[in-house]
Amino acid sequence: MRIDIVTIFPGFFAGIFEHGVIRRALGEGLAKIDVHDLRAFTHDRHRTVDDRPFGGGEGMVLKPEPIAEALAALGIASRFERQDAIRAGISPQTGSMSRGTTLVAPQTPQFDSRALAPAGEGALQTRVILLSAQGRRFTQAIARELAALDRIVLVCGRYEGVDERINELYCDRELSIGDYVLSGGELAAAVVADAVLRLLPGVLGNEASREFESFGEEDAKIDSDVEGVPRSQHGAGGLLDYPHYTRPAEFSGLRVPEVLMNGDHAQIRRWRREQQLRKTLANRPDLLERAQLSTEDDKLLDQIRRERAEFDALH
Ligand code: SAM
Repeated sequence: MRIDIVTIFPGFFAGIFEHGVIRRALGEGLAKIDVHDLRAFTHDRHRTVDDRPFGGGEGMVLKPEPIAEALAALGIASRFERQDAIRAGISPQTGSMSRGTTLVAPQTPQFDSRALAPAGEGALQTRVILLSAQGRRFTQAIARELAALDRIVLVCGRYEGVDERINELYCDRELSIGDYVLSGGELAAAVVADAVLRLLPGVLGNEASREFESFGEEDAKIDSDVEGVPRSQHGAGGLLDYPHYTRPAEFSGLRVPEVLMNGDHAQIRRWRREQQLRKTLANRPDLLERAQLSTEDDKLLDQIRRERAEFDALH
């Protein structure tokens, strides 16, 4: 997996991927991140990347030309260039990496699957993503989709955002990391990169853990594989994780739930499942609507809801 990040603040990423499993993944060559300074694709003395908005209003907007140039240098063709290439039956190779490289010198791929239809053998599966508060909400499901690609290109906005024509011409997806407004796309790009990279095979020490965490998927398949080891039954359409405890068994007067220490794996599994349901009902009831729940889950949920109603009636 290769990740290219286009930003006006390349220094933002210095150090951010140098920790934990992401550092190890990059160190072992499982992935590569290249950060590109948008200002390297300007041509004026002031290295101007922004301009006033048409129609008036607050703030500044990132100009389209430097971003288009940066993307061309990364071998990304515009929608029109791709259409032309399809008509002509060729795969355009756009640009070269002669300018604008910042932290690591990237290598331009031979060609890009976005420039080919259908993607030829050996084509890189690339997606260009615009980070934007107006985008579709980034989820674990999208992280899984992106992790299956060869390459993602992340375009970071600043100021009031990016000239919309960049979105129309180059971007496959507009992603938001949540319902709030950040001052720039850099944090969002780092969030997307982290969530995607940890899903790559070999990145997590324990491969199973990504299947058993919050928003995990296809629980039924995993569940049939249990060999006496208590597993969370995560996923089942994406419930939240259960609470975790470690030593000491007592901390500040609070004991670890007894059930976790009695070695009865069936009981532990049931308890964890109940906790998942409780947490999801309390914090993210929307997830329950899409979850694949068993009959036992439904009974547990009914019981939890009854308890909550009784508690509310008393208080
Ligand atoms: N005018 C924009 C709006 O109201 O939607 C906000 C622009 S914001 C100040 C500047 C940049 O930060 C955006 O172009 C985008 O790249 C990034 N950004 C802000 N909030 C984001 C979010 N929730 N998810 C992803 N990127 C975000």
